[in-house]
Amino acid sequence: MRIAIRSRCLLLPDESKKIPSLKAGCIYIEKGKIVKISTETVPEPAETVIDVGDDVVMPGLCDTHVHMNEPGRTDWEGIETATRAAAAGGITTLVDMPLNSIPPTTTVEALELKRASARNTAYVDYGFWGGVIPGNLKDIEPLIKAGVLGFKAFMIDSGVTEFPMASSEIIRESLPILASHKVPLLVHAELESPVDIKDQSAKSYNHFLESRPQRWEVDAIREIISLSKEMKAPVHIVHLSASEALPEIEKAKEEGVQITVETCPHYLTLKSEDIEDGATHFKCAPPIRENENREGLWNGLQQGIIDFIVSDHSPCTPQLKNRETGNFETAWGGIAGLQFSLPVIWTEMQKRGLTVGHLSYWMSDRPAGFLKATGKTGKIEVGADADLVVWDPKAQFTLTEKEIFHRHKVTPYLAKRFQGVVKKTLVRGELVFDSGKFRGPMGREVTQT
Ligand code: ZN
Repeated sequence: MRIAIRSRCLLLPDESKKIPSLKAGCIYIEKGKIVKISTETVPEPAETVIDVGDDVVMPGLCDTHVHMNEPGRTDWEGIETATRAAAAGGITTLVDMPLNSIPPTTTVEALELKRASARNTAYVDYGFWGGVIPGNLKDIEPLIKAGVLGFKAFMIDSGVTEFPMASSEIIRESLPILASHKVPLLVHAELESPVDIKDQSAKSYNHFLESRPQRWEVDAIREIISLSKEMKAPVHIVHLSASEALPEIEKAKEEGVQITVETCPHYLTLKSEDIEDGATHFKCAPPIRENENREGLWNGLQQGIIDFIVSDHSPCTPQLKNRETGNFETAWGGIAGLQFSLPVIWTEMQKRGLTVGHLSYWMSDRPAGFLKATGKTGKIEVGADADLVVWDPKAQFTLTEKEIFHRHKVTPYLAKRFQGVVKKTLVRGELVFDSGKFRGPMGREVTQT
């Protein structure tokens, strides 16, 4: 059976440019793959024609930074709820972080537990990162052979005891193993050193911001660049918040260091000046910083120093967010919001004159290029999996709790107005989300090419 999707706004690769552009036409899907792309708007005979009019059809988002927390912390989130929210947000592939689940994904045994939880539960396709922690060097190669797509390490306390930080020495020992299998080390890059905190109120956002300075990120990134150079191994900086690190990263890239960098919607759209004291739902590490820093991150993205945007969806129970006491020191650090990455970023892009092509480049094409999973190219092209999102870039909405599909409704985006409404999401040609309704679960684990 062949399906045709017709739109006046298909986002197609442009041979002469890196940023794709909108064209009228039809996409033909057979057995879950894109088999033909035509700029003829009258569809050829196909069993089913989905005509979406002026809605944009673009590659589904690839979110390589999600904490699904299953097994072990399903009171925080879960595979079913996280992947339903992903489907509703136009994300067609996500990769789960090795921590906050119990056990963390640091052994093959733990990976198999996670795999068993995801089987017949996920609404979108998914993969797993493994973890590098003290004492699991022997588990790295078996984890790669068992199918993890890369590894995550923390250079600072992770916030959970079962995933301790890795010293530079541990990272140095792990890198040659990763390099020999061509898989990246994803690094939470903050290196702790003494700070002079002037604002002593635990409820004050400024207190929290002062406690995790840009310098911590810059120091960690300098160290990881040096280790990557020494061991000739690919490294990836997760959730960059400090724009002061951009010159170091730019220089390393120019020198040919194998380094890639992501940032997140909250760093690109929120600013510390607007965060009220006690507003612990804005707490994440590294922190959301000043407006001037945010402008620096947008520059870094446009210059290609930052490679892509992913959610770092990291929810917990509302109690752990300390919404009642407003204490930043003890609140769980993590932003929940993967369902809204697309409209949050698109709304901000409106102010910056950026296009649907840019959005897709940073949220589909580039992260998919980093992931290198079979069939997941992040582009509308023949041979790729038919992973697509259909959305209206003009429609607006005010985010209320009833449309949130995450397990918990705590998110800094609540009650705000956004532009860009996801209407349909297709995973391998199957409509997993259609105007508020879900079909599935039919998500499968991805494999690396
Ligand atoms: Zn994270």
